[in-house]
Amino acid sequence: MNSGDNYDCFPGTDFAPRLKKLYQEMDATYSAASNLSDFNCDGCDGTKCCTVDLIIYTSVEMSYMKQGLLTLDQAIKFKIKNRSLQIVRFKQSNPFGSDYRNSICAANFGGRCVIYEHRPMICRLAGIPHFIEKPDQTRISGPGCPRFETVFLASNPELKIDRTPFYRLLAVMEIETIKKYGKRTQSLTIAEILAS
Ligand code: SF4
Repeated sequence: MNSGDNYDCFPGTDFAPRLKKLYQEMDATYSAASNLSDFNCDGCDGTKCCTVDLIIYTSVEMSYMKQGLLTLDQAIKFKIKNRSLQIVRFKQSNPFGSDYRNSICAANFGGRCVIYEHRPMICRLAGIPHFIEKPDQTRISGPGCPRFETVFLASNPELKIDRTPFYRLLAVMEIETIKKYGKRTQSLTIAEILAS
């Protein structure tokens, strides 16, 4: 089995500089919100955020995650690939079973994300409540993580990150990718991406 050095399996590698800039904007927004609320992850081992095999919808993010593997040594890449393959097998066997539902992301080692600089948007913005303005002017909202809801919500009842501009810019990049490469990549879970 190879170690997973297949970085061209998703179109959009050439969008990396723009995606990196967008991620920096997200990180700045997230930092401002966490500073405002004193929210932090102290005492949390990260497994609450990383126990779900999250779905990624854009090939530019898939490609960027795979590039993150370039920064790792072969042994870690090999482990990530094997762990991802196992999670994919759990999902194929029973997507509602505890083996799959309790799987910890293959990139999480001891509570630490080893592709932290290349983690996708859903991971970057997790923890703090948010909203998204849809094109039809309706708004959907989501809660914070269990730690935010139990420890920080009472003193920050109005705090919500507006994810709308980030989703829009990511959608623009994805549409450009589809036009450039003439195909749309189906949505995949993190395990399916890292196993490919
Ligand atoms: S990519 Fe990193 S932050 Fe996201 S779920 Fe996996 S380990 Fe957690």
